[in-house]
Amino acid sequence: MEEKGAENGVAAMAACYQGFDPAAYLQNNYTPPLADFERKDSLVPWILACLHRAFTEGDVSGELLVDIGSGPTLHQVMSGCEVFNKVLLTDFLEVNRQELRCWLQDEGGCSLDWTPFLQHVCKLEGRQYDQIPRNSVIMDIVPIDVHRPQPLALDALPSAGADCLVSCFCLESASPDLAAFTRALGHIGRLLRPGGHLLLIGTLGMNYYLGGPGLKIPTIPVNEAQVCASLKESGYTLIRLEVYTVPQDMKLFDDASGVFFVKAMKE
Ligand code: SAM
Repeated sequence: MEEKGAENGVAAMAACYQGFDPAAYLQNNYTPPLADFERKDSLVPWILACLHRAFTEGDVSGELLVDIGSGPTLHQVMSGCEVFNKVLLTDFLEVNRQELRCWLQDEGGCSLDWTPFLQHVCKLEGRQYDQIPRNSVIMDIVPIDVHRPQPLALDALPSAGADCLVSCFCLESASPDLAAFTRALGHIGRLLRPGGHLLLIGTLGMNYYLGGPGLKIPTIPVNEAQVCASLKESGYTLIRLEVYTVPQDMKLFDDASGVFFVKAMKE
């Protein structure tokens, strides 16, 4: 009975996502004020700074980085592309995977220009803007479902697993309740080698966000203590949790009070 309820919740979330509109999502969340490189308190520069720091501390290394629930966005792997030789992007929806292919294969007519994001990351790294080498480490863009015990196709990863996972705004946006969020953390952990790192970014206290015009996607309003407990229960050791408080004028397309950045390690 309980299992049936969990399945129904996951199916209801999947149904919500059928109306997801990548162009509207990018326009809402990846333009000013949420992505404003001139503003010190803007969200996306904060995320890029957290990722830059996490990837350059020296403990995150290896061959393969996997991004969980990439959506139509690339900012979350830009720093990682400098550290890893192979990067795998994943998403639940074909429309999002198509948006990523559009940019990476230089098809033209993409919904967003990622150049200013790359330029900002290059600046953080103290190097010249260099788009081409980063794109070339992205090996594929594949389907994923974090609610399956085996989220990726069996042949998507080498048997040793990934050396690092990044996931940005996916788990709390794709889960019907906290139990499903925690289970999803466990499922993606199976893709990671023991000792590998998880860099997890998510919203705090968010009940919904706009996934397209008029499409309110319900989400899990997690708090910091719940995130820490879910990580522990799913076999991760927390290294660091940082919190960003959403300024009032940035509460436009969701009701999040904050954003967390977690660096953790699989036990
Ligand atoms: N990572 C992007 C970002 O940082 O903006 C997109 C985040 S968007 C809020 C949530 C993403 O979760 C969407 O791309 C959606 O397709 C994906 N998603 C929804 N259900 C999922 C599932 N069951 N498994 C994996 N990803 C899922």
